[in-house]
Amino acid sequence: MSKRIKVFILAIIYTLTSLSTFSVQASKVTYSKTLEQIYKSKDVYTETQKRLKEFNKNYSSITYLFSAGKSVLKRDLQVLKIGNGSKKIFINAAHHPREYIGTILTLNQIQNLLEAYVANGTIDGQKVRNLLDTQVTFYFMPLVNPDGVQICVNGSPSYYFNANKVDLNHNYDALWFKKINSTYSTGPKAFSEPETQAVRDLCLNIEFDLTLAYHAAGNIIYWYFGQEGADRTRDLAYANMLKATTGYSLVSPSNYKSSTSGFKDWCVQKLKIPSFTLEIGGKRGLSKPVEWSYYNTIWNENKLIPVRIAKQLMTQKKFNGDKKTALIYKNSLFRQGQIISLEGKQYIAEKDIVLLAGKISDAQKQKLNQTRIYINKIPHINLETLAKSLNLVFRFEKSSNTVYIS
Ligand SMILES: [Zn+2]
Repeated sequence: MSKRIKVFILAIIYTLTSLSTFSVQASKVTYSKTLEQIYKSKDVYTETQKRLKEFNKNYSSITYLFSAGKSVLKRDLQVLKIGNGSKKIFINAAHHPREYIGTILTLNQIQNLLEAYVANGTIDGQKVRNLLDTQVTFYFMPLVNPDGVQICVNGSPSYYFNANKVDLNHNYDALWFKKINSTYSTGPKAFSEPETQAVRDLCLNIEFDLTLAYHAAGNIIYWYFGQEGADRTRDLAYANMLKATTGYSLVSPSNYKSSTSGFKDWCVQKLKIPSFTLEIGGKRGLSKPVEWSYYNTIWNENKLIPVRIAKQLMTQKKFNGDKKTALIYKNSLFRQGQIISLEGKQYIAEKDIVLLAGKISDAQKQKLNQTRIYINKIPHINLETLAKSLNLVFRFEKSSNTVYIS
């Protein structure tokens, strides 16, 4: 089949798929496993994956499921995107395996949002359809550490690391220091692990406006990592809202340097965005998974959290600079590329083409020369033309400012 025909067919397939997403499901969706069954399963990874696929299949008008990368043992680090709003919120769970009750909680939060969307309902007085269609997009990663969770549920309930025996929540580049012994490991260097690399790249590419990570236990909220002035005021306001919603207490900002290089620490220090760690599962320390009997309490404390943070985000005035367009490539790999929108067309800097294509031939280069324009004196190529010449399918989603290439 010639390349041109193939691209044409893919375009038709794409058009048909987008048309089919106009119908919104009315009937209640049934799932292959309950949340309790998923929590008590010996294969939490597969069951979580299955549930995410079920969400994506049943609510395809508003969801997009992709893998942000692979774990040490090559398990997919799946992310479910929900909504098409311009502000982006990232919620993740299970950096630490034995704390994977957060995985169940995030699945439940996803389900709650999707059901309200389809029913044209409200959560906390907020029309969910309005919120997700135009205001915010949620990105949920329920299993940051799938290898660790599998080790945990198969005979090592206190397991705390990834498959390389690194504590993923001490592997981010925020006052990272090297410390490795039998009970503590920050890894050989910051971002040494594929899981933290994938989370980092996702954050850099999507450019979230706010992030939240679920851990257990303690009923406490970490919110501070050296913010000053307006940023501190902004983040304390979110923290107080989280406290009022959950009933958890705020961790004092003093001595914040006693625990460093966590996901939230990196978001606050390097990305300069509001970021929070919520320790769910009771006022206690735990060296094993939270008992299932606790789950209802956790759900009641946290069911409003996604919508509450979205509502507060919509009132936030100052954002961290202009958002550049994010690029999603091959449905799974993320690449950071300087993409600029100009008069409704997207351009990629010539130097970044290698991200998409690897090396390109001189003949291809010649062809692309015709579309070269200079933006701020830097040569750029029209992204659609480039994708076509590389035989890739290109789609720009204006509402979420995201380019998809598969
Ligand atoms: Zn933790």
